[in-house]
Amino acid sequence: MNNVRVRIAPSPSGFLHIGTAKMAVFNWLYARQQGGAFILRLEDTDVERSSDEFAQAMCEGFHWLGIDWDEGPAFGDVPEKGDYGPYRQSERIAIYQGEVQRLLDEGKAYKCFCTKEELDAERERARAEKRPPRYSGACRNLTREEIEAKGDAPYVVRFKVEEGHTEIDDLVQGKVRSDNKEFDDFVIQKPNGYPTFHLAVVVDDGLMKITHVLRGDDHLTNATRHVMLFKALDYPLPYFAHLPMVLDENGKKYSKRLHGANVLDWRADGYLPETIFNYVVLLGWTPGDDRELFTREELIECFSIERLGQSAARFDMKKLQWLNGQHIRRLSVEDLQQRVMPILQAAGFDLSGCSPEWLRQMTAICQEKIRTLNEIVPYTDFFFSEPAEYEEKAVRKHWEKDGALARLKQLRDLMASLDEWSTERLKSAYEALVEETGENLGACVHPTRLALTGKSVGPGLFELAELLGRETCLARMDRAIAYVNQMGGQRA
Ligand code: GLU
Repeated sequence: MNNVRVRIAPSPSGFLHIGTAKMAVFNWLYARQQGGAFILRLEDTDVERSSDEFAQAMCEGFHWLGIDWDEGPAFGDVPEKGDYGPYRQSERIAIYQGEVQRLLDEGKAYKCFCTKEELDAERERARAEKRPPRYSGACRNLTREEIEAKGDAPYVVRFKVEEGHTEIDDLVQGKVRSDNKEFDDFVIQKPNGYPTFHLAVVVDDGLMKITHVLRGDDHLTNATRHVMLFKALDYPLPYFAHLPMVLDENGKKYSKRLHGANVLDWRADGYLPETIFNYVVLLGWTPGDDRELFTREELIECFSIERLGQSAARFDMKKLQWLNGQHIRRLSVEDLQQRVMPILQAAGFDLSGCSPEWLRQMTAICQEKIRTLNEIVPYTDFFFSEPAEYEEKAVRKHWEKDGALARLKQLRDLMASLDEWSTERLKSAYEALVEETGENLGACVHPTRLALTGKSVGPGLFELAELLGRETCLARMDRAIAYVNQMGGQRA
């Protein structure tokens, strides 16, 4: 199939939510795999809640994730593109009104003049009689004279729900059959002439020739109304796939108020867009085996609608962090370096005296260890300033035991005696020493790491020592020796 046309239709009333990002990713993958078109459409008819700022923030979220659209509204310097525009609902009001008029002319919709008070009273009666609140159909059969007699009284337009059944053959949820009796004549145009969500979404999907609607399962009940409208408007019916929402770690719908609901929170936290893209796919799709790590290209290759699941997956921070580490390892050193440089600069490190090759090596020795880009800061701060303090727990563990002072001196002398200052030379000297003393390597590595970096974790010790340089290392060993000496004095 090469005429696949899919879309994402967010309301720009906030940031790009992780759940919307997930739906966008599935649609995008399908379009890219099938050689079809991915369309971005902004549902911005709720003037009170929508803003251009939000629309831009949302587009920025897509942009960051690498989700490009073939058709959609203007973003930054990029003008609107596509043959089925405009792609903002607020610019399509006349189109909706035209389609509503068509339904009115064909007797498939009608004007309803019931006042709010009348409708409230009707609802109240239904509640008292324990019936579901449904519109009575009072205006369904008004005569032309009765309508004319209303003059310019405000009205809504309602869709005439016919008797019978409506069936959706959902690609994920299976067949969903409803008795039309469950639906009253719903509103398709508001008193201000604006379309309701149901009307606008169907007209857009119909006129934009959307072939597949992959969206949240919160729209499953709406889909029955949509199918009725598609048929009434004589649009070809798209395939529907209603997908589970993203749940938080407690199994509740991922609230807007939670950190991470905004896709760009992850950028701020040092996650790669590749990771978030990969992760949201795993929240609803499985490859059929136990693979979890995918690039965009791999996903385009193996994505399939058949393997989308019905049950919602909970967000799992640990797994996300693990996945981010894996994606970081997959980058080239140069790529990783480019991504961490702004973070190092923002941390206030003075990089002016560092050669490109030194910076490259510094990045390389962190690549196997860091789980987020932001971790580059605690993994490298000791290169740019002396440790301001020594980690307390590590001091207790490695420097407070008997013989700790003598050990530090011994290691300092070992370093000073080296004819060549390199990772390999340091490593072989340390290994020879433990061979001689019969201890394990950790007993020498940990106290040294603490002396050089002030910490118990970080990049490989010999690698970081090479980059720090002989003079700095010896000075830091001396400083540590003085510190431990003084500690001993205090205890005595
Ligand atoms: N604006 C709707 C939403 O974000 C779009 C629904 C649809 O995809 O049809 O939920």
